[in-house]
Amino acid sequence: MKTKTISLDQMQEQAEFIKKIFAIHRQHGRQPLAFVETYGCQQNVSDSEKIKGMLSEMGYDFCDKTEDADLVLYNTCAVRENAELRVFGNIGALKHQKRRNPDMKIVVCGCMMQQEHIAETIKRKYPHVDLLLGTHALYRFPQRLYEVLHQGRFFDAENEEGSIFEGIPYYRGAKPLANIPIMYGCNNFCTYCIVPYVRGRERSRNPQHILDEIQQVAKEGYREVMLLGQNVNSYGNDLEEEMDFATLLREVCKIDGIERVRFMTSHPKDLSDALITVMKEEPKICKQLHLPVQSGSNRVLSAMNRKYTREAYLELVRKVKSAMPNIVLTTDIIVGFPGETDEEFEETLSILQEVEYDTIFSFIYSKRVGTPAASMPDVMDEEQKHRNFDRMLALQNEISKRKNDAYLGSTQKVLVEGISKNNSDTLTGRTEGGKVVNFIGDQSQIGEFVTVTITKTQTWSLFGELSE
Ligand code: SF4
Repeated sequence: MKTKTISLDQMQEQAEFIKKIFAIHRQHGRQPLAFVETYGCQQNVSDSEKIKGMLSEMGYDFCDKTEDADLVLYNTCAVRENAELRVFGNIGALKHQKRRNPDMKIVVCGCMMQQEHIAETIKRKYPHVDLLLGTHALYRFPQRLYEVLHQGRFFDAENEEGSIFEGIPYYRGAKPLANIPIMYGCNNFCTYCIVPYVRGRERSRNPQHILDEIQQVAKEGYREVMLLGQNVNSYGNDLEEEMDFATLLREVCKIDGIERVRFMTSHPKDLSDALITVMKEEPKICKQLHLPVQSGSNRVLSAMNRKYTREAYLELVRKVKSAMPNIVLTTDIIVGFPGETDEEFEETLSILQEVEYDTIFSFIYSKRVGTPAASMPDVMDEEQKHRNFDRMLALQNEISKRKNDAYLGSTQKVLVEGISKNNSDTLTGRTEGGKVVNFIGDQSQIGEFVTVTITKTQTWSLFGELSE
């Protein structure tokens, strides 16, 4: 299926609704406040930056508490049950608030809204919600919000799958890091994953649109970009022109002002030699790779439809490490996939020991309605899954600490991101490999590169002193 880019005309139609909402607020003579909460992955964070961009142009400012808000918006995630339960809990808690303040508008959008049974549940059980908006209809947000402000409650889970929206205003996160989506959706249908059902098939953005956007953020003072896609390695497969991810990366690296380039996520089955070469050759590309393995057992990998074996994955890791010996490797692991035995779990532990990841992102399997894995028989009880999970974390903590200890005494080039959340006297930034470094510095250094000598290490972060 060829990707359809939503035309400027349609975007201009939405721009008119933005103006109309702005005019309504001006009449009221008070700046309205919006509370926006985002669940899930970086793609959702990026969608929220667009939502906030549209809200900002409609005249909204942002607040940290729902009690202060004229509009509450939850941008939801469907990947795990926990996040879904939190959304339901939060929407439920707004019921009394809405009773006290009937003018407050409640919007629920994102991946959960692409699931019919969830949208139906919200309509039935949470009548105080004003607007539901699916991921494919995000660009229609101004129009739908205008309809809500004028006509009352409106539900919209309409599906316009196969589209890409350009020209939506952004309200970006703080400098120096800008998220840049390069593609949407996924074609892989891993059997546990809901993403292809809620985000649709892979659609690559036009490369020129991506490069223009990166040029723009460079002009605004962003120094680092994170290129986002569910599987960036298949970027370009649906484009008419010859373009692949490695070529796109080379073009991104030519942009003045951008000094670090990261990307995620890379499906191991599509990681090409050309990508390893470009990573090795281009100094702007951070030597950091997130390569989700999910399991160390070939039987489980096959049941997950991951399309690689343990051996092929380890061979890939060997290639990457021999090209870039200091690469920082991270991964995702699912514990307790349906049918996983203790022996198969041991194979996952052994892959952690073999690869020695710097960090892992691990989860106990979460059943997703509508995916093939949801109907696979299970052999392990929940308590055992939790015990295995704890064992895996203990092992990985040891490995992560050992990897971090190797930085002791080294000097690192750190891009300063801001003030540490835990200590207002401390600045925080990242090394090229994405390691968090905390140090005492001056706030004027935020957004700049500094050199830090590492003096202390912990499992998840490094501490240091500014060097001359
Ligand atoms: S590659 Fe697999 S896990 Fe990742 S988004 Fe696609 S289907 Fe989900």
